Amino acid sequence: DPRVLSGIQPTAGSFHLGNYLGAVRQWVALQESHDAFYMVVDLHAITVPQDPAELRANTRLAAAQLLAAGLDPERCTLFVQSHVPEHAQLAWVMNCLTGFGEASRMTQFKDKSAKQGADRATVGLFTYPVLQVADILLYQANEVPVGEDQRQHIELTRDLAERFNTRFGDTFTVPAPYILKETAKIYDLQDPTAKMSKSAANPKGLINLLDDPKTTAKKVKSAVTDTDTVIRFDPEGKPGVSNLLTIMSTLTGTPVDDLVEGYEGKMYGALKTDLAEIVVDFVTPFRTRTQEYLDDPETLDSILAKGAEKARAVAAETLAQTYEKVGFLPAK
Ligand code: ATP
Ligand code: MG
Repeated sequence: DPRVLSGIQPTAGSFHLGNYLGAVRQWVALQESHDAFYMVVDLHAITVPQDPAELRANTRLAAAQLLAAGLDPERCTLFVQSHVPEHAQLAWVMNCLTGFGEASRMTQFKDKSAKQGADRATVGLFTYPVLQVADILLYQANEVPVGEDQRQHIELTRDLAERFNTRFGDTFTVPAPYILKETAKIYDLQDPTAKMSKSAANPKGLINLLDDPKTTAKKVKSAVTDTDTVIRFDPEGKPGVSNLLTIMSTLTGTPVDDLVEGYEGKMYGALKTDLAEIVVDFVTPFRTRTQEYLDDPETLDSILAKGAEKARAVAAETLAQTYEKVGFLPAK
């Protein structure tokens, strides 16, 4: 089977709707057709300051949410990034192949460092796309299911894989992004031109899957739309309404055109009330399932231990080949 690899950060405890619709939902589907590797990327999380106890708790919480979303440890390999030291080891080699200017062009770094203040941004934040390159190449992944915001990093991965292969001989699979057009970018409910993000400026625009359902319903009902009243799918002219239609369409499986037809002559309020109910119906069992996994940390940890073992078997082989190619003396 073709292989997929992807990861999610254990930063803000709860996943948001953008994470689920843009990424995790695809992960669940792909475990049926692909040899799938999914990880909680704690090494990436520390590119911005984290409280140690919170980071540890959020790492378990992220794994619990992935299982609650439908990842099945019998069908995929689920692990924690820091349990597989080869990620940091291959990242060093990749850092030494990456141009400083090339890394400086990564827009996520520019956005995140601007948010933090340029003086506070770390070298880790600067090189995090290169760590991501190592994450993907270690598993010889063919496809990487992510949201649109990660496209540039997958391009970097392709460039570095090709550069390494040209310089040292064929070693890495050159991966392709797997980005579904419809859900590639879910927008902030208060600022429908910005991506919904864990580090959102206004928490009212962010639908956290683990929020109290009442809070969630309120956030949906107070989503920013526009002063017009017609319900129409037009991401340029009506970003707010279009975002709500995208979310509704994905969660219900109803095509956007059918939804628009159904809302003909109705007001925004009707759309928001219906969507609030749909979102609440989705998050309520999700919260319960997540809690069940959290209540049994031994099972959770043993799933992650088995996952790390499976992941390491693949990662160690790729790292050994890489070390050999670059000319490191084998340890005897
Ligand atoms: P941060 O803002 O701290 O980077 P995040 O919200 O982007 O957090 P990540 O853990 O970095 O969350 O991303 C996990 C996955 O979710 C990635 O594949 C990313 O592309 C996807 N994703 C994140 N936000 C969205 C969004 N608004 N729409 C679609 N996909 C998204
Ligand atoms: Mg992100």
